[in-house]
Amino acid sequence: MEKSSASKELKEKLFSKNKHTSYRITAEEKSASDMFAKEYTAFLNASKTEREACINAEEILKSHGFVPFKAGMELKAGDKIYRNNRGKAIIAAVIGTAPITEGVRICAAHIDSPRLDLKQNPLYEDHELALFKTHYYGGIKKYQWGAIPLSLHGVIVKADGTSVTVNIGEDKGDPVFCVTDLLPHLATEQMKRPAVSLIKGEELNILVGSLPFNNDEESEAVKLNIMNILNEKYGVTEDDFLSAELEAVPAFPACDVGLDRSMIGGYGHDDRVCAYPALRAVVDCKAPVHTAVAILTDKEETGSDGNTGLCSSYLPYFIDDLADCFGAKGRHVLSASQCLSADVNAAFDPTFPDVMEQKNCAYLNKGVCVTKFTGSRGKSGTSDASAEFVGTVRRLLDSKNVVWQTGELGKVDAGGGGTVAAYIANLDVDTIDVGVPVLCMHAPFEIVSKLDVYMTYRAFSAFVE
Ligand code: MN
Ligand code: MN
Repeated sequence: MEKSSASKELKEKLFSKNKHTSYRITAEEKSASDMFAKEYTAFLNASKTEREACINAEEILKSHGFVPFKAGMELKAGDKIYRNNRGKAIIAAVIGTAPITEGVRICAAHIDSPRLDLKQNPLYEDHELALFKTHYYGGIKKYQWGAIPLSLHGVIVKADGTSVTVNIGEDKGDPVFCVTDLLPHLATEQMKRPAVSLIKGEELNILVGSLPFNNDEESEAVKLNIMNILNEKYGVTEDDFLSAELEAVPAFPACDVGLDRSMIGGYGHDDRVCAYPALRAVVDCKAPVHTAVAILTDKEETGSDGNTGLCSSYLPYFIDDLADCFGAKGRHVLSASQCLSADVNAAFDPTFPDVMEQKNCAYLNKGVCVTKFTGSRGKSGTSDASAEFVGTVRRLLDSKNVVWQTGELGKVDAGGGGTVAAYIANLDVDTIDVGVPVLCMHAPFEIVSKLDVYMTYRAFSAFVE
């Protein structure tokens, strides 16, 4: 008896504790978490593309007193600024009380999500049906995108240089669109295909119409009818598709999941579920010591290239301009800076346990996931945070009672993946991955836990306060 109670005591002292967040938070925190989930869900529903997320982030910033940053402007502690990068990425900052040369605290996340982009010459008619050709964006299981309602979002830049914004399929009463799939009765051959080509890339065609223009029998009358509707609504012609960015995304809204309403299901959690908490932490922070920066970036899902992705120079340019305002050098600011690079991680799925190493993976409801390294096949492509920086983050989170866990993306050699962490670390910034565990990642309907979302917000808040 005495012997067992001694081991129990020693275990308590020496072993790692890893419990459901519910056992570790107060009732007040639980209701704060539910409230935060509501606000996040509203943001998610209004932000189905990187452009919409950027517009909504800018609205939130403006309504909290953030002003557009101009190079050379005079700045003092408490000032709130932002820079919108081409309507697809946005950086916000609250100036800290410490000298800028002591570095900034960066919360980074991405606001682009996997989807179907329309091709530049998308519209065609086949057997009196009108369809759009697409090229998928990011890593998707293509078969998941058939037979679900899709909405269409984006911009069309017309021949005269003016542009129109498109958003069809979200409002009640709007029509939606669909990639058609084969009925099981006739899918014998299709079902023998490997899953990667169950629906092939060139079969991701979106059905958009079926009626001929004016009931006349001229060829391509159905296509003409669709073009006429678009012309009446937006003033566009077929050639205007050449300078358009139109994205098809799941048309249904995000909603609570589970009888206990503990989870949120919806499109685009990756990575708006980190972007929104990052933005809110910087918006909500009062008088930070180090300048607090939130960066919501684009193009992560296709490798971060391009001038709105984090492989470009728009972040170091911003830091350069910020440093200039204080007569400092950008690189000195970066070298002293720290970053929580926030992206979702795979949550353990009891239906598919084999891909996870269960001592080192993320679980739903065990809090924000801190990932020392990402990458694949021997840590390739990771920035791998140092033990010292992990130690700093660990002490910070523990001191603020943030519930957190660690997690690797699956078993060694099972696959893997990277984030923007490496690109920020390459700027000589101490960087570590954090994020929300997700079920069904990259599917049209992804699932997160409300408590994890809230703990991610709490982690950012602890970091920037
Ligand atoms: Mn992501
Ligand atoms: Mn992703």
